[in-house]
Amino acid sequence: MKPAGIYIHIPFCQAKCAYCDFVSFAGLEHLHAPYIQALLREIELKSPAWAGIPFDTLYLGGGTPSILSPAQIGHLLEACRHHFQVLPESEITLEANPGTVQNWLPWRKLGITRLSLGIQSLHDDELALLGRIHDAQEAIQAYTAARAAGFENINLDFLFGLPGQSLRRWQETLTQALELAPEHLSLYCLTLEEHTPLARQIAQGLLPAPDDDLAAEMYELAEEMLAKAGYLHYEISNWARSTGESEGELPRLACRHNVKYWHNERYLGLGAAAYSYDGKRRSGNVEHPKNYILRLQRGQDPTATSEETDRQRQIEETMMLGLRLLEGISWEAFSQRFGEDLREIYAQEITTLAEEGLLTIDERGIRLSKRGRLLGNRVFAAFLH
Ligand code: SF4
Repeated sequence: MKPAGIYIHIPFCQAKCAYCDFVSFAGLEHLHAPYIQALLREIELKSPAWAGIPFDTLYLGGGTPSILSPAQIGHLLEACRHHFQVLPESEITLEANPGTVQNWLPWRKLGITRLSLGIQSLHDDELALLGRIHDAQEAIQAYTAARAAGFENINLDFLFGLPGQSLRRWQETLTQALELAPEHLSLYCLTLEEHTPLARQIAQGLLPAPDDDLAAEMYELAEEMLAKAGYLHYEISNWARSTGESEGELPRLACRHNVKYWHNERYLGLGAAAYSYDGKRRSGNVEHPKNYILRLQRGQDPTATSEETDRQRQIEETMMLGLRLLEGISWEAFSQRFGEDLREIYAQEITTLAEEGLLTIDERGIRLSKRGRLLGNRVFAAFLH
């Protein structure tokens, strides 16, 4: 049985960033302690349904999990280890905001194996524009301190395609990021989400709208610079440092938890707005932490939506998620999973996309081409029937 993953959502932040529409809230410090209690109840509540399933990844995301104390996160990890079959060699990731942690040692002692630091930019004016709570120097200090505390697997998140950002400034951020030599880099093109302060400022003409062509150039520059620096591009937005050993289809330092999503495998989501997938059914918890806490205080299940995915939907999701990985989708893995030949189900789509230069076909299977990586959404849409 393939091990599954656990995701725990911590929906709290110190301040709301100007571009963010994630389920995260600032100013709810009074809910931190009851939220932990609610999570402990949900862990107990969900454990029978997931009994006998081994887990080899646990991801604390948000929001800002590092806004909580190491003791609070420690309770959650302890409860997961007690109620679920968390394998000893599991990857345990903590998402952290550089502005929230002074001392990394207590975090390291919890058995967290992987740190993901949301740095976003190494220019102070860009960080201010994004409404981040830290400056560039604090971000670098957080990284250096985490290293000194013994974290050996660190991801850094960056954003590009910011309003007014030039190619040269993005290059400077990347150059500095590479000097830090993290094990992993996640680079995302800024998406303007409706109703965020940043989108409003742009709509009012107070800031220039991001330029799509320039963003594509930034992406290509990143591909080039990271390849030269020894990073393996394994997912549209993710790179892992080469270990110098044989890497296989996926780099050794790839985020094992996120790979489960892209392989459309099972995961259990805990906390407000967290989603679970048991291989057939997708379910999601109530979004607001207040409602989530209330439900669990009453001993109720926090699930708000639940939908059985039929075979067609499972195929479509497997295509959309799997094509995000540069390894693509193999003929063999697909036929093992669905008992049918991918070339037959999607004959027309594969031929058209390959003719348009968006897909590459080889003896292993299909994958996005370099151009396809820039136009991923067009490719994914073609596989939705
Ligand atoms: S720290 Fe992350 S989750 Fe929190 S507001 Fe900023 S972008 Fe959103």
